[in-house]
Order: sequence, then structure tokens, then C-alpha cells
Amino acid sequence: MIKSENEKKDYIVKAINVHKYFGKNHVLKGIDLSVERNEVVAIIGASGSGKSTFLRCLNGLETIQEGSIFVEGKEVTSILNSPQINQLRQDIGMIFQSFNLFPHYTVLGNITLALVKVKKMNKKEAEEIAYKFLDKVGLKEKALTYPYNLSGGQQQRIAIARALAMNPKVMMFDEPTSALDPETVKDVLDVMEELAQEGMTMIVVTHQMGFAKVAADRVIYMDEGSIVEEGSPEEIFSNPRSERTKQFLGKLLVV
Ligand code: ADP
Ligand code: MG
Repeated sequence: MIKSENEKKDYIVKAINVHKYFGKNHVLKGIDLSVERNEVVAIIGASGSGKSTFLRCLNGLETIQEGSIFVEGKEVTSILNSPQINQLRQDIGMIFQSFNLFPHYTVLGNITLALVKVKKMNKKEAEEIAYKFLDKVGLKEKALTYPYNLSGGQQQRIAIARALAMNPKVMMFDEPTSALDPETVKDVLDVMEELAQEGMTMIVVTHQMGFAKVAADRVIYMDEGSIVEEGSPEEIFSNPRSERTKQFLGKLLVV
């Protein structure tokens, strides 16, 4: 039976008919999106289409007015005001366009802070984990450096290491390379590609088609608060069905 097939799937994130308003502005108009464990989903779409708001709703940074969101089987809206929301936020690693590193902490300090404060690790344990993930993003030698001495791309890789150190179940990226100098973009994408290959569940808002083609299992095209089209990278980039998708992709290629 189809129903039981569906139930067998191991969804980390499930959004059902999500509506979000900012005042009268209807920003998300019934978004349905399920993300399976180990799946990499890329979200593309014009500025203002609701991509960031959607990610913020997924980890409970924004409330929704209709619909439901489940992360690891827990309904986000129902735990917003309970301590469980903290566990949920630990399960979700968020990477933003601006890296949000703490400027007055070293790279090592940036990574160990939450491990000590939130995960209650001792300093040695926290530092071991920090070095492990610094190594993973290729920046072990920068451990004692301050963020302002690093390039944007390096800072973003530190932000990724910091998020990974918390042992998240899913990583969400919101245009992680849009604020970077072109020459530092590739190093960040390489780290993300490696994560994807290792089976990290990822939701990535990005206009890096190269990354989406190589790493994404599924591409979602959003416009004006709705999912217009979704499919494999091949389907969306080479053979889009919707006129709106075609138009959007056409614009992307000329910039
Ligand atoms: P995208 O990430 O796709 O560029 P956003 O999610 O940032 O889109 O924005 C979607 C819409 O929501 C836009 O019209 C934006 O102006 C509005 N919006 C986003 N954040 C807020 C906010 N905190 N308050 C009011 N309106 C917002
Ligand atoms: Mg955005």
C-alpha cells in the first residue's frame, strides 16, 4: 500500500501546509516539504520569495499561522515555549550568509563556547572536538587566530565547523557563499560537498548551480511564498516544466 510505503520513510523535517504572515504580507503560502535522513535539498528562488523565512520557521525562530512543522518527529510549534526547543535547535545546525562568529573569541573559543556552556563538556573534551572539526574544514592551524584575521570564506568554514561540533542531525544553510569574495567560495562549497557525500542531511538555500548539480538530491524552486516546482537537479536545470522556473533560471545564467 502506498500509505505504508510513505510511513516507512525516515523524515527528519516535515513541513505541512505552512503559512506565514508578516502583518498582512502573506510570505509562505502553504509550503509542503519533507526531507529524508541523508537527503540534500537545495532551495532556489528570487530574493523575497520566502526562502530565509521558511528556514527560520523550521527551527522555530519564526512562528507560523497555519500548518505544522515536525523536526525529528517533534512538532516545532508545540515546543516553542518549552525547554525541548533547545534540544531541537541543537539538532539543527544553521549557517547564515553572515558568519556570526564572536569577534572577541579565538577560532577555538568560538567552537568550544557552546560545547562547554550548552553541552556541559569540560574544556579538554571541547577542544578535542573543536580540533577535529577544524581539521575537517581544513583550518586546524587557525585555531588560535581571531576571526578578523581570516577571510570571509575561512570564517564561513569556521562557522560550519562550529555548527558540526554540536553534532546536528540536519544542517541548514542560507546562502552561505553569497557574501564571500569569489576566490573563497570554492573552499566553502568543497566542505559542503564533502558533508553531503558523507550523508549529512542538508537543506541549502543557494544559487550555486554547480553545487546543487553535484550535491543535491532534489532542487526546490520557490517563488512568492510557494513551491513552484521540484525535482532532481537534472530535471530542474535541464528540463524545467514551469514557465516561472524557466524564466528564473534564464535570469540566473546571465548574471
Ligand atoms: P528570501 O530569503 O527568499 O529572499 P525572505 O524570507 O527574506 O525571502 O523574505 C520573504 C518576505 O518576507 C519578503 O517580503 C520580506 O520583506 C518579508 N520579511 C522577511 N523577514 C521579515 C520580518 N522580520 N518582518 C517583516 N517582513 C519580513
Ligand atoms: Mg534570504
